[in-house]
Amino acid sequence: MRFGAHVGMGGGVFNAVTNAINIGCNAFALFLKSPRRWESPAISAEDAETFKELCKKHNYNPRTDILPHGSYFINMANPDEEKWQKSFDCLLDDLKRCEQLDIGLYNFHPGSHLGIADTASHETAENAGVRRLADGLNRAIKETNFVRVVVENMAGHGNYVCGNLDDFHTLFKLLNDPKRVGVCIDTCHAFAAGYNLNNEEEWNGFWKEFEEKVGIENLAALHMNDSMAPLGANRDLHQKLGWGFLGLECFRLLANDKRLEGIPLILETPLDGNDEGHYGEEIKLLEWLVGKEKDDPEFIAKSEEFQKLGFKSREEQAAKFEKKKTVKRKNEGKADISNMMKGRAKKAKKGD
Ligand SMILES: [Zn+2]
Ligand SMILES: [Zn+2]
Repeated sequence: MRFGAHVGMGGGVFNAVTNAINIGCNAFALFLKSPRRWESPAISAEDAETFKELCKKHNYNPRTDILPHGSYFINMANPDEEKWQKSFDCLLDDLKRCEQLDIGLYNFHPGSHLGIADTASHETAENAGVRRLADGLNRAIKETNFVRVVVENMAGHGNYVCGNLDDFHTLFKLLNDPKRVGVCIDTCHAFAAGYNLNNEEEWNGFWKEFEEKVGIENLAALHMNDSMAPLGANRDLHQKLGWGFLGLECFRLLANDKRLEGIPLILETPLDGNDEGHYGEEIKLLEWLVGKEKDDPEFIAKSEEFQKLGFKSREEQAAKFEKKKTVKRKNEGKADISNMMKGRAKKAKKGD
């Protein structure tokens, strides 16, 4: 199992390799430029060489063990042509950086359809968004040589596409070269989008659905995060492993799942300050979970210990979610009453 984490690249991309080895990563993620800026200076040939040398020295195969994270601005589902093009240029720049560093995988967020349906093609906003994403991927693949573009699942918030497996099903049908595209499942996002993963039955149910709708051969990576918010809350709130609503059981199942062997398994859990040392501890924890049975007393004790640590934040988020649901129900109730009144007024007018 290639457990690793998203590490910093301050001072040059090559520093990410040292940061990764220092905390015991078997795979790692990094940014290839500032993720909150449209343009960044190119990576120098010298920096790229140092990066490749350090990978060799520390036994990372850049084609399989490194999963850079794309810029947050990229929105390949954007209905605005000009903004779509700007996103595409940024995506292509990211992909070229990967190939410069001999990196074989690249992960990014699929983007938002902004709630705008396509009147010309009569497509729903969601389908039009997925089609635009597929167009971008098809073009980007044509303009690059080997990097596999990995699309991350979203928490089902706002107008983001790919919060559900059906969107991925639609996406893969639209691809010219599906082997050059992969899926990254973020456990926190999946849970927030309504896929429960916190017990064996649900965990296996999710992967069965994944196999049916997407195909396990298209799974390229995982982001391993617990969730601070409850199931289906559509909130992208990462939590430390075992502290959230997924609990340690989810990560025990993950650590023992043969389907996940050989692909990058990346931590993006919250850090105290900027100390990546916590990732090192979580990697050790995951390695400890390999071969652990559900009823192992040590495992049970650790699960309970971590659940206690996350108790307060879970309570807070559960209360927020309940409040949101109540407001939603109230609004729906108001709409029902107003529709009823309208119906009655109509009937009265007709005279029946
Ligand atoms: Zn993620
Ligand atoms: Zn997230």
